[in-house]
Amino acid sequence: MIDPVIRLSRSIVGRAEADAASRVILDDGYLGMGAEVARFEAELGAYLGVDAAQVSCVSSGTAAVQLAVQAVVDPGDEILVQSLTFVATFQAIAAAGAVPVACDVTPATVTIDLADAARRCTPRTRAIMPVHYASNPGDLDAIYAFARDRGLRVIEDAAHAFGCTYNGRKIGSAADVACFSFDGIKNITSGEGGAVVTADPLIGARVRDARLLGVEKDSEKRYRGQRSWDFDVSRQGYRYHMSNIFAAIGRTQLARLDREFAPARVALAGRYRAALGDAPGVRLFDTALGPVVPHIQPVRILGGRRDAVREQLEAARIQTGIHYKPNHLLTRFGGGTPCLPVTEALYDELLSLPLHPGVTAADVDRVCGIVRSVAAPNEVA
Ligand SMILES: *Cc1c(COP(=O)(O)O)cnc(C)c1O
Repeated sequence: MIDPVIRLSRSIVGRAEADAASRVILDDGYLGMGAEVARFEAELGAYLGVDAAQVSCVSSGTAAVQLAVQAVVDPGDEILVQSLTFVATFQAIAAAGAVPVACDVTPATVTIDLADAARRCTPRTRAIMPVHYASNPGDLDAIYAFARDRGLRVIEDAAHAFGCTYNGRKIGSAADVACFSFDGIKNITSGEGGAVVTADPLIGARVRDARLLGVEKDSEKRYRGQRSWDFDVSRQGYRYHMSNIFAAIGRTQLARLDREFAPARVALAGRYRAALGDAPGVRLFDTALGPVVPHIQPVRILGGRRDAVREQLEAARIQTGIHYKPNHLLTRFGGGTPCLPVTEALYDELLSLPLHPGVTAADVDRVCGIVRSVAAPNEVA
């Protein structure tokens, strides 16, 4: 589709973000990682209710996952993770030298199926990575209990879930390790970016060093406009830090989240649910809108009609998506051998409908009208 009328997702940025970026460029002139990043981390910490020292901003959500994994496990260690996630999750685990072990999901929430994960535990299993699919953390208490029972670390891929709450606490604030994405279309954006949040000071220090080539304790100096010349490096590092420009954009977005973006996403998702809850041939996933601030709006289209629905929406210049192609079906991560029945069945039914704060209530009604008419089993061809 060349020019969709209703886009699947998009950045909601404008004058405030442009002014913030130009403040860094014109007034400050230091474009690397400096005081603006320190301020973003402080504000993220305040928002989440954790100490700023627990928050490390990095260049992307993928970098956040890679650095978190590298800080937690040793090369060759296995991590239990649902196959049904963005390929970034799997690539980041692999980039850190760990082995992503593809697990099935629970069909009601598309979160990791712990019974399946239990069967895939080996002596090399060191961590479990829940993916908060469509921003829903699922039964996070059960995941932490599962990890405690087996001596595993928990690294949350919370790329979808910035701004969400679970048991009354912000996602990330009670995590072992949580990874956020601030890419262009997530709940807030910094242009590109991400963050690792952890209460474990050793993991936090490893992430902060690794984002700056492994140079030990360099972050604090850079926040004060200094840097290290005589330093030591003892672990693998990268250039995965966040720039002051991106931090300035992120700070502006953070200030808009609870006032603007979160209520809009929750209201639009609520409208989808009201319009499609009883639609023949359509199934919704369980979620808790409000605490869950949805990043995407996936639904199931039953009876083999997903592609027909998709085509009718595209014909009306309404963009859709499929979140996601399961990773075990990719050559790199399992060679394409089917082995996860729930995941594979869902992959044929998944359809993501437009969701971002620029979608209107009328847009949702139009989308749902088409979905209802084409998804219905008695539709005459
Ligand atoms: C977006 C995303 C990532 C990666 O974040 P980037 O900032 O795009 O690198 C990782 N996992 C999931 C589930 C995502 O949706």
